[in-house]
Amino acid sequence: MNVPAPDPDLLQKLALANRILYDQNVVDAFGHISVRHDKSPGHFLLSCNRAPGLVRASDILTYDMEGDLALASDKRSYLERFIHSEIYKARPDVMAVVHSHSQSMIPFGVTGQRLRPIFHMSGFLGSGSSLFDIREDAGNTDMLIRDTGLGRALAKSLGQHNCVLMRGHGSTTVGESIEIVVYRAIYAEVNAKLQLQAAALGPVSFLNEEEAALAAATTEGQVARPWALWAEKVGSLD
Ligand SMILES: [Zn+2]
Repeated sequence: MNVPAPDPDLLQKLALANRILYDQNVVDAFGHISVRHDKSPGHFLLSCNRAPGLVRASDILTYDMEGDLALASDKRSYLERFIHSEIYKARPDVMAVVHSHSQSMIPFGVTGQRLRPIFHMSGFLGSGSSLFDIREDAGNTDMLIRDTGLGRALAKSLGQHNCVLMRGHGSTTVGESIEIVVYRAIYAEVNAKLQLQAAALGPVSFLNEEEAALAAATTEGQVARPWALWAEKVGSLD
């Protein structure tokens, strides 16, 4: 199948998003961000197997909804690309996906505690994160989403949430654009830190669902402001 070339500006933005997520401590040498193809909704764009802090536009590859390369390449693929393919398949509203092992989220996944919106910046958490336990679907594994079946199970656990915790592994966050999903991945990690601190003090009064929705509409409507700051900080590689 012939896939049209994506907008070059989208490739640049996706490469920049990789470096922002590294600069903001959401990803380290591992983790990734993808975006749905702007001209072919049945495809998505994802870097080759490279540390996010080093990703350039020329590293971005095009995949189909089975997680296979749309155009042959001798570059290696990420093992966990099926996270992205199965979420795009299950959620037509999702335009961008971040998968990370950001540290403050891990304690929640292993205790079955939901991440809930502790302040207005994380209103996108709504009624809370969902939880995926790979052992329930696949028994004992290396914890990675390395095929379509595991990706499908993860997408099912995500449901209509914006964030799913993955027990003993990390988390995956979705959004309507690269800017929004980067914002959410950064503030999900901030929320996790604050929630851990607040829970140590006593019972926490979280934003309720209506407050969360109102706050999300306001803060995410201003996403261009933090994006410009984050982008300026990492600069250009190309
Ligand atoms: Zn992972």
